[in-house]
Amino acid sequence: MGNGYGFKCKRCNREYEVLLGCGKRFSEEYQQTIEEVKRFKYGVKWRNLVKNRKNINIDVEYDLYQCECGYWKVKRNLSIFEPIDETNITTSEEYPLVTRWERKEGKYRLVAENKHKCRRCRKPMHVIKEEDIDKLPCPRCGELNESETFIRWD
Ligand SMILES: [Zn+2]
Ligand SMILES: [Zn+2]
Repeated sequence: MGNGYGFKCKRCNREYEVLLGCGKRFSEEYQQTIEEVKRFKYGVKWRNLVKNRKNINIDVEYDLYQCECGYWKVKRNLSIFEPIDETNITTSEEYPLVTRWERKEGKYRLVAENKHKCRRCRKPMHVIKEEDIDKLPCPRCGELNESETFIRWD
């Protein structure tokens, strides 16, 4: 389950939305993302990080990324984590599913943080936390709008 925010541009009427977190098919999406990483979808570096480690897990949830130029995009986080103590692993799965909630308990450490780059100016974008989503520019005209609707998606 994820939270979403709906916007309607007060200048050009374009409607846009931001859907964060994960969908109902979290476990499927998780396995699918692992497969995509193995097939080089996210680059050689990411594939090697996954390939050369056991018991890693990937943050597959959607975050809002924004560049200082204003460009924004909702993307899977894709940061890679590993258990601090591997003897804690009780599953035989190669890449056990771990949620953000579980990561907060402090049993995992960050191996690599994925830096999404801005499509417009190639600078690294940063994550806008859900509680900090205030005004988001319209993707068509750049007008800053506040969200009008709250969505529980999937
Ligand atoms: Zn607009
Ligand atoms: Zn930019």
